[in-house]
Amino acid sequence: MENTSEMPNKLDDRFQHSAPARDMLEKGAILQRDGTYAIAPHIPGGIITDPELLVRIANVAKKYNCPAVKVTSSQRIAIVGLKEEDVDAAWKDLDMTPGAAIGLCVRSVKFCPGTTFCKRGQQDSVGLGTEIDRRYHGMTLPSKFKISVSGCPNKCMDAMMIDFGIMGTPKGFTVYVGGNGGLNPRFGEKLAEHQTSEQVLQILDRTVSFYKREARTNERLGKFIDRLGFDRYRQEVLNETTVH
Ligand code: SF4
Repeated sequence: MENTSEMPNKLDDRFQHSAPARDMLEKGAILQRDGTYAIAPHIPGGIITDPELLVRIANVAKKYNCPAVKVTSSQRIAIVGLKEEDVDAAWKDLDMTPGAAIGLCVRSVKFCPGTTFCKRGQQDSVGLGTEIDRRYHGMTLPSKFKISVSGCPNKCMDAMMIDFGIMGTPKGFTVYVGGNGGLNPRFGEKLAEHQTSEQVLQILDRTVSFYKREARTNERLGKFIDRLGFDRYRQEVLNETTVH
């Protein structure tokens, strides 16, 4: 896939996360109910092509007597029940980077198997999702920001319940913006249809730049769009070459 504009600097001190007590953000360790920690390495799309990686994760869980290894809703594998004093050594043994599971940032970029593996796939969700993950995973933003790519209208990655949802069709990608789950669920609104991967990346680049510039701290994309108005947001992130 051809590169469009890069987002070279992912970290921005303006958006500081106020972590719940004792989460260790800098170590990617999340406090559990019993005072132990969970760590979840970054596994883009949850796709592992080298089984040795699974062996390494299993060995770390065994070595530090962790009671559970959990597949998360964000396509990660979390090692649960680590003692605080073992967190650094566990990461060293894993030799992997943490997934962005908490904080004001781009969380996991979820993508389905699409045309790579799924018989229903209509677009290359793995290719586009991998590129989005490379550019944005962990980037600090005014609020948490979730992205997903589904390879067909079945929307297995919940394209309308996520901040920036992308869905494949036979004619290209459809983009939904401003969805979220949680206490006050909101359906995403359809922003564009029949887009190429490159056009989706351009829309996402403009969305992230605009959101970073104008949104308030802790203002999810849907709230931001509501405050500004969908038409203003749409004007800002689309141009004539991408609207169909
Ligand atoms: S969204 Fe479509 S392509 Fe992706 S896993 Fe579901 S059925 Fe398969």
